[in-house]
Amino acid sequence: MTFAPLPGEAAVMPTYARYPVTLVRGEGTAVWDDEGRSYLDMTGGIGALSLGHCHPDWVAAVAGAAGTVGLASNLYATRPQAELAARLASLLPIHDARVFFCNSGAEANEAAIKLIRKHGLAHGKGAIVALDGSFHGRTVAALAATGQPAKRAPFEPLVDWFRFVPPDDPDALRAAFAAGDVGGVLLEPVMGEGGVRPLRDDYLRLARELCDEHGALFVVDEVQSGLRCGDWLAITHAGVVPDAACLAKALGGGLPIGALVAGADVSFTPGEHATTYGGGPVPSSAALAVLDVIERDGLLARSLEIGARLTAAVVAAAPAGAIAEIRGRGCLWGFELAPAADGAPADANAVVLRMLEDGVLASIAGPAVVRMSPPLTSSDADVDRAADALGAALATAGVPA
Ligand SMILES: *Cc1c(COP(=O)(O)O)cnc(C)c1O
Repeated sequence: MTFAPLPGEAAVMPTYARYPVTLVRGEGTAVWDDEGRSYLDMTGGIGALSLGHCHPDWVAAVAGAAGTVGLASNLYATRPQAELAARLASLLPIHDARVFFCNSGAEANEAAIKLIRKHGLAHGKGAIVALDGSFHGRTVAALAATGQPAKRAPFEPLVDWFRFVPPDDPDALRAAFAAGDVGGVLLEPVMGEGGVRPLRDDYLRLARELCDEHGALFVVDEVQSGLRCGDWLAITHAGVVPDAACLAKALGGGLPIGALVAGADVSFTPGEHATTYGGGPVPSSAALAVLDVIERDGLLARSLEIGARLTAAVVAAAPAGAIAEIRGRGCLWGFELAPAADGAPADANAVVLRMLEDGVLASIAGPAVVRMSPPLTSSDADVDRAADALGAALATAGVPA
């Protein structure tokens, strides 16, 4: 496979080590590169493409809004934003919810962090509990909340509001509250970038209990897990209702929108937070189309079928012993690769590159984890094809390409 980067690529700030493909067109779960090769897209914009590429309902909603009213800058109300807020408030389990719209996952978390600080500091509690291995975004406070020291290191010192604890460790969580200074907890119910790790249900229930006991806010970062793990919020699996939730990726279906959904009793008041673009008519209309199609076509239930089929197919297709663990739920999965027989660490990126050559796009979530976040519209044939490609890539692992 040959690859020539676009001439303009050299002018793009090199924040990403990109895969050797230039995408020019997409339709459903298929994308095409500039040489006419087609691929099955099981990355879906790292989970943003909930309906796949260019779903006709989504395209119609976006085009319609783009030709109706440009932007109201939040100085004025617009119909799509009001309708979307009401829809999210009715769909999510959070009681009497209010929605703050922004443009990304990191921004939703920034808003959440401010909300926790405001709420906690009112009672003299400034600390926020977060998890080792978490990912909350690249802006400054979201980065400070991210439990991956290597990502934070070049920018230290950052704000020191976050107290990190290992995930799924009840004693460490209790200990973090012991000083009596915790104003809130921020965690991903399914940790995405940290290797696709669903937290244990009893751990999530304990976090809820401790927050209740200490008057702390329990906020879930569902930027990656929201809408694609069998429910609107992945935490619903544990029977837990958070005080607030952050959504982004899958909500926009490919346009930038983020949302902080919080109970009215803990909401911001006028002047405490703002954004020019947040919840504009075009991305709000895109999100409404995403919610419409998910409801109309039963895609939350379908996401669970996709996950069950994908994991069974991968187990069948992968060479024995090649996969150490399969983790995830619905349409978000991590396949943790086993070390080689000689003890060499697994190289998920090499496997992803082999899959790409085979015409299937996947991503990684850590050095040894191949991630798939398929669109909720994926067919059974798509799922089987993706599993076969992973199996084939693992079968040739260690063999020079
Ligand atoms: C992707 C992601 C973010 C950051 O979202 P951006 O839109 O890239 O800013 C935050 N939290 C989680 C869990 C994510 O997966």
